[in-house]
Amino acid sequence: MPITDQSARRPWHVQPCAAVLVALETGPKGLSTAQAARRRAENGPNALREDKPLRPWMIFLAQFRGLIVWILVAAGILAGLLGEGLDCAAILAIVALNAALGFHQEFHAEKSIAALRGMTAPQAKVWRDGSVSIVAAADLVAGDVIELEAGDRVAADARLLEASLLQCIEGALTGEAEAVDKHAEALEGPDLPLGDRRNMVFMGTGVAAGQGRAVVVATAMNTEVGRIAGLIKGMQGRDDTPLQQKIAALGRVLVWSSLGLVTLLFVLGLLRGMPFFELFMTSVSLAIAAVPEGLPVILTVALSMGVLRMARRRVLVRRLPAVETLGSTTVICTDKTGTLTVGEMTLRTLYVAGRTFAVTGEGYAPRGEVLPEGGGADKGDAKLLLALAEVLVGCNNAHLVLEQGLWRVIGDPTEGALLAGGQKAGGDRERLEREWPKHHEMPFDSDRKRRTVVRLMPDGRLRALTNGAPDLLLNHCTRILDVSGVRPITGADRAAIAERNAALAGQALRVLGSAYRDLEAAPPGRLASAEVERDLVFVGLSGMQDPPRAEARAAVAKCRIAGIRVVMITGDHPHTAMAVARELGIADADDAALSGAELDGLDDTALRAMAPGVAVYARVTAAHKLRIVRAWQANGAVVAMTGDGVNDAPALKGADIGIAMGRGGTEVARQASAMVITDDNFASIVAAVEEGRGIYDNIRKTLAYLLAGNCGELILMAVCLAAFLPMPLLPIHLLWLNFASDGLIALCLAADPIDPGVMRQRPRRRLERITNRGFLGRMLLSGVLTAAVALGVYLHVLKTESLEMARTQAFAALVFAELFKSFSFRSETLPVWRLRFLDNMPLLATVVLVAGFQVWSQHNETMGRILKIGNLATSDSVMLLAVSLIPLAVLEAVKWMRARAG
Ligand code: ADP
Ligand code: MG
Repeated sequence: MPITDQSARRPWHVQPCAAVLVALETGPKGLSTAQAARRRAENGPNALREDKPLRPWMIFLAQFRGLIVWILVAAGILAGLLGEGLDCAAILAIVALNAALGFHQEFHAEKSIAALRGMTAPQAKVWRDGSVSIVAAADLVAGDVIELEAGDRVAADARLLEASLLQCIEGALTGEAEAVDKHAEALEGPDLPLGDRRNMVFMGTGVAAGQGRAVVVATAMNTEVGRIAGLIKGMQGRDDTPLQQKIAALGRVLVWSSLGLVTLLFVLGLLRGMPFFELFMTSVSLAIAAVPEGLPVILTVALSMGVLRMARRRVLVRRLPAVETLGSTTVICTDKTGTLTVGEMTLRTLYVAGRTFAVTGEGYAPRGEVLPEGGGADKGDAKLLLALAEVLVGCNNAHLVLEQGLWRVIGDPTEGALLAGGQKAGGDRERLEREWPKHHEMPFDSDRKRRTVVRLMPDGRLRALTNGAPDLLLNHCTRILDVSGVRPITGADRAAIAERNAALAGQALRVLGSAYRDLEAAPPGRLASAEVERDLVFVGLSGMQDPPRAEARAAVAKCRIAGIRVVMITGDHPHTAMAVARELGIADADDAALSGAELDGLDDTALRAMAPGVAVYARVTAAHKLRIVRAWQANGAVVAMTGDGVNDAPALKGADIGIAMGRGGTEVARQASAMVITDDNFASIVAAVEEGRGIYDNIRKTLAYLLAGNCGELILMAVCLAAFLPMPLLPIHLLWLNFASDGLIALCLAADPIDPGVMRQRPRRRLERITNRGFLGRMLLSGVLTAAVALGVYLHVLKTESLEMARTQAFAALVFAELFKSFSFRSETLPVWRLRFLDNMPLLATVVLVAGFQVWSQHNETMGRILKIGNLATSDSVMLLAVSLIPLAVLEAVKWMRARAG
């Protein structure tokens, strides 16, 4: 019987923890990796629905979806029936080539998108081989012991083994919006409704607060959500981006209008008495040439290549539309700690009873000294420092580990620094844990800005140890620890502490205050925050250094040039925030930070008016973040916003682009955001904006190139038809041209490396149409130019030589011109000679190869017969190559004049 088959046994919630562990053949420290692997092999992955597997043949078949392909196939068969064997073969070969190219592009795009989906999959903290590690949620099996904390999404159904102030939001399952309290004791009543099974947590629900440990009892389809079929359906799929939708619409318009035009030409030809079959074939090929059927694929390629490039720059895209929005971002609201700063803290200063101490030592190594400022050690010092150290070390969830000679912190870096510093000041973690075991805990969150741990003292009483933002913590203190012992706190004390706090913050230090309180014994369930965190004894201050990231300064400067505002939003003290902001160039010397309290005094209209002038927000809560986003949006800004905590989810969703932190962030924040920055680094956000702009540029240039090519062919054919000239291009010519330019070249353009100048332009307006006036002008000009060159060649040769020679040369001129001008389309502003050709090797190679192939077939009998072209002298080939440079030259001249006109 599989372990997760519950039908035959008593429900998990009525059994005591020990029995559950036995039944699941596991222990309080979980499974071994080998056991887990075996169970996973037996029961399959812990996923509700397998992601749609990649089916290559489906993608291949999809290449034959369009109307155009079938017209082409029909034309090929018709040609075959009429005895034009070579035509038939050539047309079908082109169809196959096009399908192969389309398949290749789409298959790779799908594969990379699938790979990305894997990278952003939910994770879980699980005990394996006796220690906690992070695995993909899909790898959880029954019997695994998982750790839960605020912000996590529960990855499987599990029975709680331990819970401290744990609250879950189970709305997805029970419809109950309120968070429910959880505990680990066995319940009565096998048929309790899900919402009342307080000792269970369920897959897909969220942890709102607290911490817990639980053993997985059901995975995948055996979970409660798995059973509710209706819930499975609404899961997020892959949505098309607005640009994709717009371009699809444009494509439809183009298909119908070019079909209309071709029909018109067809009727015109009939009226002129052209032979039906020839006319039909020409019209069909013209339709193929005119319709940009490669468009959606090119778009997918541009987007997915960009998304992959972003992944290499440590940005994972969760929602594709974000890629486009990125390019028009005008404001980046960013966290300070860990994003603008390195997030590696070192305790530098301690302050107790009016005395300041400098702390030496680097990194998280618990080695260093605590030296009184200005010398002159006092005999009371050691005792006071020890009292402070006890709070620093005792109210602390971080761990310091020595890895390859380097001390690393597991947990919150702030607490890591407090731990290392506390040990330097005489604290002893191990002894403290042994003699004062942890009784209860009130976790840190960015709204409370403090953490409390309640410990059981040897005399049976309790002691609450609290660290938190000093300015706020002071409001909860009524006493202070002094050389002479505990005494009531005075106004002068408060002023001195506030002054010290501000001074330390002014040195860009992150300052925490420490306090404690002795309590009567009480069970953990009775300890409410309001009861415990009041009437505290203030002990001292700790100032820690967190240097700004070197690369953040450059990134901020880049934003300034790119017309993007950087706004710092932090829970830290205004002075700390301003000091860092000044160092990074986010704020000027005379700027001031707006604090959360000041923000509360402003209504939305006032905030809206003020927002453009504020670069730094300090001591804010998550709710303020959403107001700041709204205020900027009301000013017409496109806002990117970072966040890491549970409370940040509304702001992340409300922003135009929510950006979650991959390292420090919670699962809830990740799920709420459009992008994840895997190194938590501000510079990566700016890199993402750059990529976003680049992707948009690539789409735009490819589109312009495609449409210009089609436009040129249509103009050439239409003019000749109207002027009663024989058709300058045969169907096979149009098909080949279509394959080379719409297929190969367009693909190379879509994958063009980003123009280094993108960050020197202003953000694109969000509602800007891709087909604006400049775009249409360039497209028409380029179309007219190529048509004119080909027509000139055609008319010139027609006068002196045969029709076949005229066609051969007009065809060649058109192919060459299309190839050459692709270079000009790489940038709308930079002249070709300023673009590095070697940056886009595929494009260069394609141009050289296709041009070489063209020249070769002009001298090769067999190729000549297949492509229906004549034999040219080498001098003619060279002449044609030269003439075909004209469109490129004119396009460049126009670019140059534009640049001069400014
Ligand atoms: P940010 O991430 O924007 O720097 P936080 O919300 O993390 O700000 O922190 C806000 C304030 O809360 C800090 O200035 C500090 O005083 C306090 N604080 C931060 N981390 C902890 C912690 N682990 N324990 C206690 N207090 C903390
Ligand atoms: Mg923080």
